[in-house]
Parts: sequence; structure tokens; C-alpha cells
Amino acid sequence: MADVEHRPTNFIRQIIDADLASGKHAAVQTRFPPEPNGFLHIGHAKSICLNFGIAADYQGQCNLRFDDTNPEKENIDFVNSIQQDVNWLGFQWNGEVRYSSDYFDALHDFAVELISKGLAYVCFLNAEQMREYRGNLTQPGKNSPTRDTSVEENLALFAKMRAGGFKEGECSLRAKIDMSSSFICMRDPVIYRVKFAHHHQTGDKWCIYPMYDFTHCISDALEGITHSLCTLEFQDNRRLYDWILDNISIACHPQQIEFSRLNLEYAVMSKRKLQTLVEQKVVTGWDDPRMPTIAGLRRRGYTPAAIREFAKRIGVTKQDNVIEMSALEACIREDLDAAAPRAMAVLDPLKVTITNYPADGIEWLDAPNHPKDDSMGSRKLPFAAVVYIDRADFREEANKKYKRLVLGSDVRLRNAYVIHADEVVKDADGNIVELKCSYLPETLGENPADGRKVRGVIHWVAASNAIPAEFRVYDRLFSVANPAAEEDFLTVINPQSLVVKHGVAEPSLATAVAEQAYQFEREGYYCADRDSASDKLVFNRTVGLRDSWGNSEE
Ligand code: ATP
Ligand code: MG
Repeated sequence: MADVEHRPTNFIRQIIDADLASGKHAAVQTRFPPEPNGFLHIGHAKSICLNFGIAADYQGQCNLRFDDTNPEKENIDFVNSIQQDVNWLGFQWNGEVRYSSDYFDALHDFAVELISKGLAYVCFLNAEQMREYRGNLTQPGKNSPTRDTSVEENLALFAKMRAGGFKEGECSLRAKIDMSSSFICMRDPVIYRVKFAHHHQTGDKWCIYPMYDFTHCISDALEGITHSLCTLEFQDNRRLYDWILDNISIACHPQQIEFSRLNLEYAVMSKRKLQTLVEQKVVTGWDDPRMPTIAGLRRRGYTPAAIREFAKRIGVTKQDNVIEMSALEACIREDLDAAAPRAMAVLDPLKVTITNYPADGIEWLDAPNHPKDDSMGSRKLPFAAVVYIDRADFREEANKKYKRLVLGSDVRLRNAYVIHADEVVKDADGNIVELKCSYLPETLGENPADGRKVRGVIHWVAASNAIPAEFRVYDRLFSVANPAAEEDFLTVINPQSLVVKHGVAEPSLATAVAEQAYQFEREGYYCADRDSASDKLVFNRTVGLRDSWGNSEE
């Protein structure tokens, strides 16, 4: 058995440990089975980290299998994006990508086997009748009128279904189990339906498609999966999973184990809802940085390591729960605090003219890339007579608690000199358009010699070398913690979920490439967006410096 002592254990690992100890299994084989009907989200990341993580820790294998039984809702773009996201998260599947549709022939033959054993029949009830016949939690179901048709007749009818002899919805193949089972899913579930749909893998070969419950367990068994991990909503379906495998000729019988889904505050996680956000153009696409998708988080500046760390911290249990957004944000903040070089960018520029500095002078100051990590080196920062500071960093009047620039007092420009605010220039409407300041030449790395009090340190960018930049300041997409509980989740979109600011960035940022992360001093963690062009940089705010939604710093 692999050494897994350093990993937090959980109930699934305990089951696996016992299975390996008892000799039930010699090795672990898991799978991640997404349906290619949308992009993967952070909930899937939990499942990916669990399945691939367990396989890795026990020196087993994890398959990537597309559960592709719904051709109308699926497409090849989703197939591709899912593979990319799994790889990006740092995982590699065992061998080739697999598809449930690889097994359509085998599935068909198992269906024929069930019919031959008198355990499946073709049913002609329509959807509404089927619901009515199914009964409910307090009432048993009623038998379909064709439940007791002969094996021969059912074989012929199923062959006709397969040959295109029936219209969609006209009939279906149902497992013959128990119409009065306390588990509704056992009341003769449909296992095959007629669907004249083109399939992204099998083309027009089939006009009947197997249902998820029938497909999933058989696909698991065909791949020799030992532990089939899924979310809690499949708890009842475990009966069906086991029933199907017990009633067909297949040696392997994986164990289905359920765990709780990840739910995140201020986010929706169902692919249908995410699709609606894309279709209604509430967001710019599946990879909009506000989406809880892997692609969105990636574009937002999340790293694979931060997402894996998040999955580790939330753990795996059977309790339904909702995780606070701050738990996810803490993971990326910790990662970036250590890894992201510091840089300066001014989101809302206010012009500062340093009147005692040579008008066309420029000097290149050294600025460390990381305050705690010398190995990250330093960069050259131009200082000149005109610099920009952020509007929020200046006040004409303020008390002692205000640690920024105030008229008549002093502040340090990060990595540069102390400046003194002498004069405010206003336009006709009284708006501040410029500050006139003087700098203290002896204050590079030194406190003012005259002992004067410097209020604090602010960030800045020299105007002569500033690069225009767009800053996309992202916030939570929803204004309520549980948008899925709303009648219409589109009514609780946070109007401030994206605020675009146009400002300037220091020249070293000119070479920023997409997804590259920085800490913009005093502003937060940002990463370059792929929308950046040579004449205009675009940065996405990944996360603020502190967990302070709505609270201003200092
Ligand atoms: P959705 O409801 O968003 O459509 P799904 O469960 O239908 O999600 P699948 O593509 O079928 O999506 O999921 C692939 C795997 O990921 C499944 O094993 C599923 O249980 C798991 N998974 C999906 N959502 C979550 C989640 N929120 N937390 C943990 N695992 C999840
Ligand atoms: Mg699903």
C-alpha cells in the first residue's frame, strides 16, 4: 500500500485502505466521468482532485470518461475544454480519453441480455403516462400494460427500435424491477430511448441511446473501476447501479460511494444555470473571470495549486454544506502572496507634478520584486517630474489616521522619495486635476533628516513611462449568498460584479503575458488578460489583498 500518511484521511480512503488490506483489490482504479454539456466548474474540481488524487496516492490509475449519452446537449468544444481543464489542474488520465459511447455496442448487447432474461421490456407509455404510472413516495406504481410481453416480442420490438422503426417518445426500453419499490428509481426505469440525434462521437450510427444509470455502471465495470465515486444525489441510484451489474454477465462490480457536492456561496454551480448566464450574456462566456468554472478561475488568475489546495482544505464528507467564498479566496491569496512579483499600477490616476525635480529628468530606481523573497530579484523603476498617484490616496484635509497624502504633509512614494503636497490645482468645477508637490532628495531609502512625520507609503507610476492599462475589477457575481434559492437567479446579479477602470501601469509590466500574476502594491492581486494588446494592457483582479468585501483598507 502506498504511503498516504501525509494526506488527510477521509471515509473514502478508509474504505480503500480496508479493501486493499483485505485483498478485495490489489490496486485502485478510479474515473472522472463528466458529461460534455458545459465547462467544468469548481465543484468538478473537487471531484477531479478526489478521483485523480486518490489514484495517485495509491499508485493506481484514474480514467477520464465522457459520459456522452445525451447527444443533443453535448458537443466537441466541451469535450476539448474539459480535457484542457483537467490537464491544467495538473492531472493526467490513464491512457486514451474514454467515452461511454465507446461502449454503445456492448451496452446494446447487455440490454438484449436483460430482455432475454425477462428483465427488460419495451414500453409504449408516453412521458406523461409514465409519470402517472410511476406513483410517488406514498403510492406504489402501476404496471405498464406491456410489462409482461414475451421475451421474443420484446427482442423484436427492441430490434425495431434500434432499426429506426419507432418515433422519438413512442416507446422506450425499461428494466423490469419493482413497481412498488420504495426507491422510485427502481420502478422499472427507462434504460434506452429513441433519439434521432447526431452524436459527436458515433455520428448517425444510433437512433437509440442508453440512459445514464444504465450506461454509467456498465462503463465503470468495463473499465475495471474499483471505486466509483459520485455525489450524494446518486445515493438511491446505487440500488439500480448494483441491480444492473448483478443481472448481466459481467465479472467486475465496482463499489459506488457517494460524497457531498461542493456548494459555494455567491455562486451557482449547475451547468444549466451557468449556460443561462452565458446565453443571456450576463457574462462574456464560459471563461468569464466571474464564472466559477475552471476556465473562468484560470482567466481570473487562480492557479492550479490554489484550486488543489482548496479541494484539500474542504475535504470529503457525506454532509451537505456551503463553503464560504473567502475559503477559496484565501487559497489563491496565500499562493500569490508567495509567488506573485510586486508591481505598481494606478487605477484612478491623479497627476502629481514634482516642482523641484528637473522637468525632463529621469532616474531609474531599484525596486525589489518581492519584499520577502530576494531570489525574485529586482526591477528598474523610472522616477520623473510627473507621476501619477491614485485619487483615493490624496485628501485636502484628513486626521492622523489617514496614512496617505494630505495637503501640507508628507508621504513616501513606494521604492522612491518622500514628497510633500504643496498645492492643489482644480478645474472650473472644483475638481482636483493636479497636485503640485516637492520631493525630499535625501530620502531615498532614508527617513527625512529633519525628523518630519511621513504619514505612510503610497504607490505611483511615472507619467513619462506609464503604460495605459485597463483594470477589470471583479467582484462576486451575485449579490446574495445563495442565488440558486431565488425564484429567478438572474434577478440577483451583483451590478458591481465588474467595474472597469482605466489607469496606468509601470513599464516593467509591458511584457506581462496572459495569466501572469502580480501583486499591484496596495491594490490587490491581478493577472494579465488575453485581451491585452501592445498599446493597451488589460488586467483582471484576481482577489483583493485582504478578506474585506466592501471594507476599504486603512
Ligand atoms: P451539473 O449539475 O452542474 O450539470 P453534473 O453532476 O451533472 O453537474 P457531470 O459532468 O455529470 O456534472 O459531473 C461529473 C462528475 O463531477 C460527477 O461525478 C459529479 O458527481 C461531479 N460533480 C459535479 N458537480 C459537483 C460538485 N458541485 N461537487 C462535487 N462534485 C461534483
Ligand atoms: Mg451529470
